Order: sequence, then C-alpha cells, then structure tokens
Amino acid sequence: MTGLVREAHLARIAEVRAGTAAAKVGYPIGLRELEVLRTARLGPALVRITLGGDGAAGFESHVPEEHVRLIFPDEHGELRLPERDGLSLRWPRPLPVSREYTVRRHDPDTGELDIDIALHPGGLGADWAAAVAPGERIHVAGPPGGPAARAIRSPGPRPARGSAAAEIAALVRGRSIPRETRPHGDHGLSAPRLGRVSATWVHNAPVH
Ligand SMILES: Cc1cc2nc3c(=O)[nH]c(=O)nc-3n(C[C@H](O)[C@H](O)[C@H](O)COP(=O)(O)OP(=O)(O)OC[C@H]3O[C@@H](n4cnc5c(N)ncnc54)[C@H](O)[C@@H]3O)c2cc1C
Repeated sequence: MTGLVREAHLARIAEVRAGTAAAKVGYPIGLRELEVLRTARLGPALVRITLGGDGAAGFESHVPEEHVRLIFPDEHGELRLPERDGLSLRWPRPLPVSREYTVRRHDPDTGELDIDIALHPGGLGADWAAAVAPGERIHVAGPPGGPAARAIRSPGPRPARGSAAAEIAALVRGRSIPRETRPHGDHGLSAPRLGRVSATWVHNAPVH
C-alpha cells in the first residue's frame, strides 16, 4: 500500500468525522503476521488474545464492529495465504482455513489489538485460542475495508452532536438476549446495561 493511498483514505475519514454528514469510507484490507503478546482467561469459556508486534504497524480499526480473519494451516499443515491485490486481497482456491473474530480493542499507539474467543470443544479457533502462548505468530487478514464497507458517523459540532445523541438514544432501546449454551453462564461476561439497552443471558434456551 502506498503512503499516498493511506493518506487519502485517512484524510477522507478525518473529513467525515469533522463534518456533519455520515459517509462510507473504504480503506485497504491488510494482511499481516502478528505476534501473540499475551493471553488472559476472562472465564472458563472465553479467552482474550492480545496481538501485536512489528506486523501490527498500519493496522486500522475505525468502527466498533470491525472484524479480522485469523488464517490457519489446512489439514495437511500447509499455510496458504491471500495475496495483496490493490486495496483488497485475492484469496486462493480452495479457500484457506480461517475464522473471523471481532476486534474487541485496538490501540493505535501501541498497535495492540484484542480479540475475545469463545472456547468450546472441537473448535479449530477455540482449540488454537486455548493453547496459544505468547511469542507465537498468526496471520491476520482485515478488517475488510472494501470500497463501501465503512460507515462513519460524524460527531459534528456541538449542536449536531447533541442531536445525534438524541437520535441514537431514540433508536437504541431494547434488549439483547445472548443464548448461552454452557449451563452455568461461566463465560466470564456480565450482562451489561448501556443506556436503555439491557442484556440478559439465557442459559440452554432454544432459539426460535
Ligand atoms: C463477523 C464475525 C465476527 C465474529 N467474532 C467472533 C468473536 O469475536 N469471538 C468468537 O469467539 N467468535 C466470533 N465469531 C465466530 C467465529 O468466526 C467462529 O465461527 C467461532 O469461533 C467457531 O470457530 P471454531 O473454529 O472454534 O469452531 P469450528 O471449528 O468452526 O466449529 C466446530 C463446532 O463447534 C460449534 N461451535 C461453534 N461456535 C461455538 C460456540 N461458541 N459454542 C459451542 N459450539 C460452537 C460449531 O457449530 C461446530 O459444530 C465471529 C463470526 C463472524 C462472522
């Protein structure tokens, strides 16, 4: 990725953030080899993996629901990777073995990023997360910043910010009911309350 391309989309994002209108801003999809810096058990069924190292330079995450794809060796132990193709990635066929994970935290100053991985029996990503140790490396693709992939809501000047907050408050009211397959809710997550949105864990309940 050239410095010029990088500057162009970052400048556009800054422009949208400084303005009053929402806009979608695409940015290049990265492929990098990251180092596992540390792991932390958030509970028996959830582990936080902190990734970083030299490969993290230039990683970008602009919206909360950003996700990345961890790429694993296939069943023959062969690691096949996508290739850079302009601002995007070209994936080989058959597709490499990979799993998507949400970026839980990204610190642009240190380059660190956290992903929280649910542990469950027989999961490739889950088994990797349960066993991985600091110093090991993993290839990470994404976030998938395609040409129309990013919606960045402008905070705007103060009056607009107030109205945006009111608009969001009016829209965001509800309940999130995450289904928990473990019997005792020992995933390490609390049921948060955020404004008028509440979350209630439902244990072993069927989903209709
Ligand atoms: C956009 C996006 C973001 C995501 N973000 C996250 C994230 O932040 N953290 C995260 O943990 N996952 C996340 N996922 C799901 C993740 O990509 C994997 O699908 C999931 O982790 C299972 O992968 P695995 O390799 O462990 O299991 P697999 O090898 O894919 O599956 C093995 C078996 O385990 C079952 N299984 C899968 N998940 C669970 C589970 N949670 N509990 C019990 N059984 C299960 C499957 O049905 C299958 O039978 C995300 C998915 C998407 C599409």
